[in-house]
Amino acid sequence: MTPAPDLSGRIALVTGASRGIGYFLARQMAAAGAHVVAVARTVGGLEELDDQIKAEKAKTGKGDATLVPLDLTDMAGIDRLGGAIHERWGKLDILVANAGVLGTISPIGHVEAKTFEKVMTVNVTATWRLIRSVDPLLKLSEAGRAIVLSSGAAHSGRAFWAPYAASKAAVEALARSWADETRNMPLCVNIVDPGATRTAMRAQAMPGEDPETLPHPAEIAAHILPLASPTLTDTGRIFLAREQRWVSYQPPA
Ligand code: NDP
Repeated sequence: MTPAPDLSGRIALVTGASRGIGYFLARQMAAAGAHVVAVARTVGGLEELDDQIKAEKAKTGKGDATLVPLDLTDMAGIDRLGGAIHERWGKLDILVANAGVLGTISPIGHVEAKTFEKVMTVNVTATWRLIRSVDPLLKLSEAGRAIVLSSGAAHSGRAFWAPYAASKAAVEALARSWADETRNMPLCVNIVDPGATRTAMRAQAMPGEDPETLPHPAEIAAHILPLASPTLTDTGRIFLAREQRWVSYQPPA
């Protein structure tokens, strides 16, 4: 496994930090020295994260957290968050756009309008709004890193997964355009497909599956962590976290 990067003094914004992959990524970034700005709705989950980061700091002297209880459907709240980061730190080094919802797994014609809209709002519109809010701040970092969580569903065309798949295809398109726009800058923008991981979202998607057959989110987070490294050079690519390998985009053939 690639060793954890040194993130001392780096400011990292992680959405969906109250549980699952985002929670462990936030913990591991703090353990690597970052100040994590942790976003989610569930205050209990954020407080547990803070407790863990403080306990680790007591042992190693590394890591801090600022908790931001925020519903990402609050677009003005996302704009304010960018403003607050600018005021406090004057830049952002790392963005992890991880928060997401599954919606329902059902035939496309059975999807309720409010479910479709929620999936698009949280997974796509909020991600774009977040990118818009922090893009200038990441450009003020000497080595800005953006990590956008997607899914194999974006490419599989699998039956019953339409809203979620459409949302992940859309965030990948956003991230790819952003990566292309910033190709000649220090900012690296990459997409992560974590692969099936033992989280609440996976249990919702696959209720009959034995979670013990899946990797723990801490394991997946450890594979994603090196993408935040200031020494990274890749941009505009997908990283398959379970397989720990990069893949590049090709047009449909
Ligand atoms: P979880 O359901 O475990 O966690 C989702 C996180 O997103 C929670 O912290 C939740 O916080 C946050 N979130 C959801 N809605 C909102 C909202 N409206 N405002 C703010 N935060 C929100 O998911 P995973 O850890 O499994 O997934 C993380 C990412 O990985 C997602 O983008 C997912 O699509 C992707 N992924 C996961 C796979 C898996 O097998 N687990 C496979 C492929 C991709 P709260 O509820 O507290 O707001």
